[in-house]
Amino acid sequence: MKIILLGAPGSGKGTLAKNIIKDFSLAHISTGDLFRECIKSGSELGEKLKSIIESGALVPDEVTIEIVKERLDKDDCKNGFILDGFPRTINQAKELEKISHIDTVILVDLSKEIIIERLSARRTCLKCGSTYNFKDVPNGKCLNCNEELIQRDDDKPLTIQNRLEVYEKNTAPLIDFYGDKVVKFSSKGTVEETYRPVKSFLKKLEANIE
Ligand SMILES: [Zn+2]
Repeated sequence: MKIILLGAPGSGKGTLAKNIIKDFSLAHISTGDLFRECIKSGSELGEKLKSIIESGALVPDEVTIEIVKERLDKDDCKNGFILDGFPRTINQAKELEKISHIDTVILVDLSKEIIIERLSARRTCLKCGSTYNFKDVPNGKCLNCNEELIQRDDDKPLTIQNRLEVYEKNTAPLIDFYGDKVVKFSSKGTVEETYRPVKSFLKKLEANIE
């Protein structure tokens, strides 16, 4: 199965991806992780990527596509994969079509109000990277390392609003592009409630593909 996962920041997309790969043997491909790995590898492409990111510029489509292509060629993708954070543009989607046939696009749907409420409740430990809902940590300290938790700028309501607008602007054309391959799932409920219908949908899809 070849799956694209679309969802706004704070929609629970990452958690859903983790649940899916537990039950289905698919490679989880996140472009954020790929960029980090590529830079760490010290390859020619990695060096190029490093200088682009250090300059503060956006990674151009052709570089992203090259990195994703390289990743999709690896053995663990033979069984299928979940793309998380790619494609982000129509151009990337068209390039992806040339190298792979996508079976389905899962759109994780959550209202703006709930996303803002969830994200603005998030507190982060800068030392270990753990995140919490502020209600769960009344003393405002990390449960792992007792470090003072902070609210990242990214999680402040105004920034969230901007991130959501960027997401919507980029995603709307992709939803049109993929047409009836797009299947929408609400992530309003708990992690389990969100995953259950996705799982049964993917089970059916898997059976149809084989
Ligand atoms: Zn910590």
